[in-house]
Amino acid sequence: MLKTSVRSVLLWLVIIAAVSAETFNAILISLDGARRERLYSMLAADKLPAMKQFKTNGALVEIKVEGHQTETGPGHAEMLTGLPKEITNVYTNPKYDAIPEGLTIGERLKKALGKDNIVVMMVMGKMGYMGARSPAEFTETEKDSWWGNLTQPYINARKNIDFWFGDEARATDVVGAKGITYLQKFKDKRFFMFLHFKDTDAVGHTFGENSAAYEAAFVIEDAWIGKIIDKLKDLKIYDKTLIYITADHGFDKGEKTHLDAPDIFLATNDKTVKKNGTQADIVPTILTQFNIDLSKLEPKLPGKPLNQ
Ligand SMILES: [Zn+2]
Repeated sequence: MLKTSVRSVLLWLVIIAAVSAETFNAILISLDGARRERLYSMLAADKLPAMKQFKTNGALVEIKVEGHQTETGPGHAEMLTGLPKEITNVYTNPKYDAIPEGLTIGERLKKALGKDNIVVMMVMGKMGYMGARSPAEFTETEKDSWWGNLTQPYINARKNIDFWFGDEARATDVVGAKGITYLQKFKDKRFFMFLHFKDTDAVGHTFGENSAAYEAAFVIEDAWIGKIIDKLKDLKIYDKTLIYITADHGFDKGEKTHLDAPDIFLATNDKTVKKNGTQADIVPTILTQFNIDLSKLEPKLPGKPLNQ
């Protein structure tokens, strides 16, 4: 009798260990145009309390942007697919087409886990090369613009995921608040959420990388990361939710441009992240945490998980 109960307790421990080894939820947040060196100086000055938690109780590694221009369209396409521009079709901000169906991380997760087994949400802060519309949906005025004959990158993703909140320019305050609403709504489900915080980029272009306003935009974005952490803790799902913070590209030192800005970062509460890498490594890092066999993915991801 005693032996049987010891055995069943052991069996349960094995089952619990196996279940908790698999990531339940993940949130990927892009700080548009966030320069790594500025992040470091602000962390050192204790100006980013939420991100600092990851540095001390998670990981902060260096990421390099390679193989495409350091701008928003191709940066996000690689961040969200792990694939080069020749496959995503997002070559530059003015040159893009639809990302082929099934290649964004949300679509990969739905395919691997079952479409009803994970809720996928994308909340965007920009349009156009971050959009999901086709010329058939454009107004006459839009059709006359330079992008009026271009199909936007996320048109297939929009169709295949659960919640697409895009196709409008939105401040970080709006994107962050939408993210909190989604957390409340889907707290009892498994989810993957992408949030696009554009304030750092917008302010950098107006006031420059070395401005107080650029730092203030970082502070706003960090505050929203803090609110998301607090909400996850309130909902008692923080321990089963991995959070990854990265950028589409950096910013030119002291400038209002990001022409040559490949230095970004990955800050996370995922303690298994150990290595520096490239933008292509972000998707395989997250998919590995969902126990997805990368060798079975087509097309193959060129990047490697940063936790091995
Ligand atoms: Zn920009």
